[in-house]
Amino acid sequence: MRRHLFEGLIRKPLTEPAPRIDDVATAELAASLDRTARKRLGRSLSIRAVDAGSCNGCELEIIALNNAFYDLERLGLRFVASPRHADVLLVTGPVTKNMREALQRTYHATPDPKWVVALGDCAADGGLFAGSLACIGAVDAVIPVDIHIRGCPPSPRQILAALLALLET
Ligand code: SF4
Repeated sequence: MRRHLFEGLIRKPLTEPAPRIDDVATAELAASLDRTARKRLGRSLSIRAVDAGSCNGCELEIIALNNAFYDLERLGLRFVASPRHADVLLVTGPVTKNMREALQRTYHATPDPKWVVALGDCAADGGLFAGSLACIGAVDAVIPVDIHIRGCPPSPRQILAALLALLET
């Protein structure tokens, strides 16, 4: 028993090491996104996230953008609670039949100019849920989409890079 406790104290944790993230490159990417938003819009970018039926994996990556590591708000990019305050709708998941009307109403409530970003494989083509009786499928089957971000789920850096590409077009 004593030996077992001692081994528990000196043994390394059985978890995998965290993936290395290039902090400087991420900060530069986010700063560049903020500069471009200010040039295009005269202010920082406001994003409204809409879950149209996802498994919440994509939401975890969106939430990561606001965590202590990425800390998106320090660069002026904000997630807003109302589509009326948003420039970008960030839509996740295959659109379920129950969410179709809510998504359309959210789209119409967002003032022009606006961009729609379909986030994740499910938002692009239904992904894992394609063909489900409960789903319509891709976001662009319901509202116009400006850019797709592929991945299941895409990483926070991919999301930042896609938002930057969107504003630079
Ligand atoms: S793309 Fe993957 S993580 Fe995102 S909602 Fe679909 S299954 Fe979930």
